Amino acid sequence: MITINTPEAMRAWARCQKEQRQRIALVPTMGYLHEGHLSLVAAAKQHADSVIVSIFVNPLQFGPSEDLDRYPRDLQGDLDKLARAGADVVFTPASHAIYNDQFDTHIVPNQLAQTLCGASRPIHFRGVCTVVELLFRITLCDVAVFGEKDYQQLQIIRRMVTDLWLDVDIIGMPIVREADGLAMSSRNAYLVGEQRQHALVLQRAMHTMQRAVDSGDPQWRSTQKLCDRARAIISDVPSAHIDYVEIVHPDTLQPLEQITPNQPGRAVLAVWIGKTRLIDNCELSVL
Ligand code: AMP
Repeated sequence: MITINTPEAMRAWARCQKEQRQRIALVPTMGYLHEGHLSLVAAAKQHADSVIVSIFVNPLQFGPSEDLDRYPRDLQGDLDKLARAGADVVFTPASHAIYNDQFDTHIVPNQLAQTLCGASRPIHFRGVCTVVELLFRITLCDVAVFGEKDYQQLQIIRRMVTDLWLDVDIIGMPIVREADGLAMSSRNAYLVGEQRQHALVLQRAMHTMQRAVDSGDPQWRSTQKLCDRARAIISDVPSAHIDYVEIVHPDTLQPLEQITPNQPGRAVLAVWIGKTRLIDNCELSVL
């Protein structure tokens, strides 16, 4: 495994691979890696001859009051994990190498980015799309792997790739969880004391919704009723504060009124546990 830290060297390496007709996979990350990230690397290996993992805490996707400065970092730990996982290249550019002083071009997603996380983080997906498109161009990747953990992000990137005719296959991978069900996230490191236990309420709320649907009682096809139920469970936890709890169309991310055998929904949640904002999601389907 090699480490590359300039866009120029990264693209030169990628060009060389392309000349040898090698297929390149990219796994974009912000580092502080966990098993969820490593599952993306494993998937990437199945789809390409070489795997690039980028580690870049992208300033463009953080709002002014967000956690850019305190985002957890552990480059040496990340490199050890990636070497064991079989990555070929770790791309770790400095912020100014990606965004020079005159940088002035953004990719701005529209409708899909206005709801859910986009509503409370207005510039977030603009930053995500801009950096992902840059990483695609720098790494010349044929395929890129993302987690369903960031479900809205995955749908926005799929849309961007289609709309802009980007020649990159997008693979979405399921959420990897801790043994007790908490979705793995670099931000879980912020949870202190009993907040770690409180954080399980996201999973509990989603399970309750799925169980209600599975009961077969038609009243539980109403997304309003399901979300009310989930919100009540979350509100019972002292340190929890709901940003959103919704059931949306899996592709358009627009709110659904009902889920039916023909129309599964995606339950999407964002909940503050103390000062830590956690997201989670799951499919909700009627049997
Ligand atoms: P991040 O480092 O948080 O920007 O995440 C980098 C990639 O890892 C994104 O595609 C995430 O969706 C994905 N990811 C993060 N957490 C998980 C998880 N628990 N399971 C699967 N994928 C994940």
